[in-house]
Amino acid sequence: IERIGVLTSGGDAPGMNAALRAVVRKGIYHGIKVYGISRGYEGLIHGEIQELSLGSVADIVLRGGTMLKTARCPEMKTEEGQQKALDQLHKHQIDALVVIGGDGSFRGAQTLARGIQIVGIPGTIDNDISGTDLTIGFDTAVNTVIDAVGKIRDTATSHERTFVVEVMGRDCGNIALQAGIACGAESILVPEIPFDYDEICDKLKRGHQRGKNHSIIIVSEGAGSAYKIGEELRTRSGFETRITILGHLQRGGNPSALDAVIAAAMGGKAVEIILAGETNKMTAYVNQEVISRPLDAAYGERRPFNRNLYELANQLSI
Ligand code: ATP
Repeated sequence: IERIGVLTSGGDAPGMNAALRAVVRKGIYHGIKVYGISRGYEGLIHGEIQELSLGSVADIVLRGGTMLKTARCPEMKTEEGQQKALDQLHKHQIDALVVIGGDGSFRGAQTLARGIQIVGIPGTIDNDISGTDLTIGFDTAVNTVIDAVGKIRDTATSHERTFVVEVMGRDCGNIALQAGIACGAESILVPEIPFDYDEICDKLKRGHQRGKNHSIIIVSEGAGSAYKIGEELRTRSGFETRITILGHLQRGGNPSALDAVIAAAMGGKAVEIILAGETNKMTAYVNQEVISRPLDAAYGERRPFNRNLYELANQLSI
């Protein structure tokens, strides 16, 4: 192995830079040249490829976003696009490619495995990739939501209002669940579990009777529109309701200690996997260790939604 390529793809996530830095520095430590590919598969297809030096990844370890930039690239889903990507990799004599991204990005990587060694590093704030307990960026996003909800709670208390806070998670309620339990949300609505307006309203009323003057309801975007839910709750309960959509705020910021450490460990592991001559692998965080798994594990059976924790959240917010 003489040359490794690395790219970030799909949605950006805090910690991607820490993973990139680890791939670059560990690669160079082992005498390998590392090439950064800008803007995901889009940049790969267009040959936006540059050698990265030790210094090129200085001062990025705790910076959010991705220095390489990221993109969605429909062309990569076509046979022609995949061939162009492979041609570029061959042209630059790159022997192995590290892809930092979500499961879509891994599928893209897999199409290149016929011509090159492939390793995926799970980077997405949603924590929706099978085969790993954590994805890079999730812990930071949850902490960002907790921080925001803390501020919302201050104003909710002062004005005696119910706030519906929409968080990211189109198909997956992990951010809502973790943040909701950590900040004591009164209700948590997720795509995995149907909810009942009457139950939520009853809970709001019971709280009110106990003298509780504010409530926080956390909604995954996949569970429904916060505006619709807020309006429905206002009509049914009579309580004043305000909506906050946290949106892209959740993607930004410096990675948490956990994300930065896991990202570094995964970046290092990816290089080790390549040095061992393995391909079609992903790095995974399992039982507090970063290990190598078949890339297929990423599309395996979804880690089931943590119903026990969800149930507990309901019990704690009677
Ligand atoms: P996130 O979970 O943050 O959205 P992701 O990696 O799942 O990240 P996608 O938009 O699904 O994000 O995929 C990123 C890119 O990977 C796509 O724009 C496309 O270039 C490539 N890709 C996705 N699916 C495939 C596929 N089936 N075949 C080839 N390439 C794919």
